[in-house]
Amino acid sequence: MSTIVQKYGGTSIDGREKILAIAERLAALRGSGHDVVVVVSAPGGTTDSLLRDATALAAEPSQRELDMLMTAGERISMSLLAIALNSIGCPAISFTGSQVGIITDTKHTDARILEVRPERVVRELASGNVVVVGGFQGVSTAKDVTTLGRGGSDTTAVALAAALGAERCEILTDVDGVYTADPNAIPAARKITEISFGDMSELARYGATVLKEDAVRFAEENGITLHVRKSGSDAAGTIVLDEPTRPCPPVTGLSLLEDVELLTWEHMPAGAAAEIGELSGRVKFVLTLGDQTLVAVERAAMERLLDRSDGNMSARRADLICAVGRDAGSAASAATARAALEDSGEKLLAMVSEGRSTVVAVRPGGARRALEALHDVFFPPTRTER
Ligand code: ADP
Ligand code: ASP
Ligand code: MG
Repeated sequence: MSTIVQKYGGTSIDGREKILAIAERLAALRGSGHDVVVVVSAPGGTTDSLLRDATALAAEPSQRELDMLMTAGERISMSLLAIALNSIGCPAISFTGSQVGIITDTKHTDARILEVRPERVVRELASGNVVVVGGFQGVSTAKDVTTLGRGGSDTTAVALAAALGAERCEILTDVDGVYTADPNAIPAARKITEISFGDMSELARYGATVLKEDAVRFAEENGITLHVRKSGSDAAGTIVLDEPTRPCPPVTGLSLLEDVELLTWEHMPAGAAAEIGELSGRVKFVLTLGDQTLVAVERAAMERLLDRSDGNMSARRADLICAVGRDAGSAASAATARAALEDSGEKLLAMVSEGRSTVVAVRPGGARRALEALHDVFFPPTRTER
């Protein structure tokens, strides 16, 4: 029997009605002859609320205890969904990440999956259960509960799909696919039918939260095609795969990452360069202009670099917009982006083009206007839209 892994995000699993509706759909899927594994996130807003509870008690809570706390959100969803499934006559059992053998490193709040030991899931599927798994969590090699970084339920779904040799991995969310820009910010954004792993992970890296970057990379490494769809709908969504089967436009999409730090050194000390090397995912770009080095980092990483700055570093906040696609990193696309920003009146703080992307930094608060201007120029309205 073929296995389907579905992942439901927080907004999809918020409240009794939505949980029951999901249970009905899962029961129908099980009834059509598939083995079904369902990964769930915490109910919408729960993880943020738990984090607020912790920081109300301590400015810098222990990372280990934060993981204990945050995994509670997913436990709520997984047990409620299993209860709902059983109540409609569809046998189901729920598990934490630890129980389904998701083994991670020891980096609390941002752990990497090292191995998945899915024997228990396989056994439960064989005995006819729908298996419900709490996303975003695992157990470390030191036997502590860990979380996989914000949005990490996507990673759980892909890791389980790979370990189980699943036929499909579906990410069900509150939008009906991946768009040319966040459709909640840019109403004119268009749904993308197919997108490559490379373009999707770059969009995710620069703020397209619809998929987590790690999950996309993991899917690529393990040859797992992803289907992004709207929860509760049968409409076709977006397929994330090695190579789109149809011709792609020169720019595939745009993403927006708000609130980063742009750090500038006249002469970067060796210590800072070493720190940057260690920050991997939190560094967005490094740009060298003569003696000056400009580094864009997520705000959370700034303190560490400040410590190594030897006093010659300056910092300013910025928003980043990234254009991704086969021609997005070309000189022509960079010139188009520059001209569009100039016309919009938004000042360009920095710009980096490489490979398949161009990233622009603009002042905080200016990004929405800049994103609109770039979307208009890279995805001009078709005649029927005008
Ligand atoms: P979930 O709780 O289901 O994991 P997320 O909030 O993590 O949902 O991701 C879905 C959100 O991603 C959408 O509501 C949308 O605002 C945002 N998003 C950002 N960029 C894009 C994009 N390019 N295409 C679609 N959605 C996007
Ligand atoms: N609940 C977690 C978060 O809010 C994980 C997830 O939603 O994927 O980040
Ligand atoms: Mg998400």
